[in-house]
Amino acid sequence: MRGPSTRTIHAGVPAAAQGEPLLPGPVLAAPYHLRGPADATPYGYGRDANPSWTHLERALGELDGGEAVVFASGMAALTAVLMTSLRSGDVLVACGDGYPGVRALAEERLRPLGIETRLVATDTGALSEAAAGAALVWLETPSNPRLDVCDIAAVAGAAHAAGALVAVDNTVATPLGQRPLAFGADLAMLSGTKSLCGHSDVLLGVVSATDPERAAALRSWRSQSGAIAGGFEAWLAHRSLATLGLRLERSSASAAALVARLRERGDVLEVVHPSGPVAERQMAYAGPLVGFTLASAERAQAFLDACELVAEATSFGGVHSTAERRARWGTDAVAEGFIRFSAGCEDTADLLADVERALDAA
Ligand SMILES: *Cc1c(COP(=O)(O)O)cnc(C)c1O
Repeated sequence: MRGPSTRTIHAGVPAAAQGEPLLPGPVLAAPYHLRGPADATPYGYGRDANPSWTHLERALGELDGGEAVVFASGMAALTAVLMTSLRSGDVLVACGDGYPGVRALAEERLRPLGIETRLVATDTGALSEAAAGAALVWLETPSNPRLDVCDIAAVAGAAHAAGALVAVDNTVATPLGQRPLAFGADLAMLSGTKSLCGHSDVLLGVVSATDPERAAALRSWRSQSGAIAGGFEAWLAHRSLATLGLRLERSSASAAALVARLRERGDVLEVVHPSGPVAERQMAYAGPLVGFTLASAERAQAFLDACELVAEATSFGGVHSTAERRARWGTDAVAEGFIRFSAGCEDTADLLADVERALDAA
C-alpha cells in the first residue's frame, strides 16, 4: 500500500483529461437535464445523486476499503446506520463513554420504537461479552473524550459469532489513522466535520460498508430522509482530504509532545491520549486529541482564557488548535477541570510554549 499522503492526494481524482481541472469543481444542481426514462442517467435529481458526492465517495471508499456514502453531518451518517440496521425488538450495544449524540438518540428516539440500548465501557472484553443477543454493536475507538481504545478485530469476531453487526465511529482516527473494515467491522462511520475536513468550515458525515446491499440501503435512507450533503461541502471535503496526511503528521506529533510536557508538570492531574499495544497495532496516528485534568473548573477556565494560539471551541481536528472544558456540556463523565485539547497545525514549539505559558498564568 502506498503512503498516507499519496493515497489521500490521489483518492477519487478522475483520470487526466486534456483541459480539465485536476479536481473537478463543485456541482450545484437541484434537477439535472433528464430526457426520456427516469433511469436514463443516475443524475436526475439532487437529493438522489450529485457528481461531487460521487468523486468524494470514490475517494473515501478507496481509503476505507468499502463503499462510501456521504451525508449532511456525522449525526446524519450515524442515524442512517441505526435506522437501516435496527428494528423493533432489537438490542443495540454502544460505548457508554462515546459521543453523547448516540446516547440521546438511543434514549429519545430508539427506545420509543422498541429498540433497547445497552451501554458498555470502551473495553474489548466488556463489548465482546455484551454482543450476545445484540443486533448491532456500535464501537467508538478511540472513545471521546476519554480516548479509551478497544480491539476492533476481537470485538468483531465475538459480535459476528453472536450474529451481530459491527459499526465503528472512526471520527477521531479518520480512515488514514485506522481502517475499521480491514479489522472486520461491517460499517465505518465518521463525522467529516472534525479531522477529515480539518478547517472548521464544513459539516459532513460518511459511512462506508463492506456489503454493497448495505450501502444501497444507506443511499436509499439518504434519499428518503433528505440528509444530504451540499455539492459545495462535498467538494470542499475532497479538496481538504489531500492534506489529511500532512495535517495528521503535524497534529499527532504536537499532541505527543504536549502529552510528554504535561506529564512532567505537577499541576496537571491526569493526561489521556490513545496508547497501549492495541492502539499501536490498530492506529497509524494517535491523532490530535489530548485530555488533561486541572484542579478545578476555575483553573481550567483561567487556562483557556490565557491561551493565545488555542481557540476555546468544541469540535476538534482543525488546523487551528482548540480546547474546551468538556464538563460544560454536562454530557460526559469527566472531572470539572477536564480539558479536551485538539492540537492543530501550528509549529509545535510555538504551541507548546503557549500552553505552558497559559498553565503558568492560570
Ligand atoms: C462530532 C462527532 C459526531 C457528530 O458529527 P457532526 O458532524 O457534528 O454531526 C459523531 N461522533 C463523534 C465521535 C464526533 O466527534
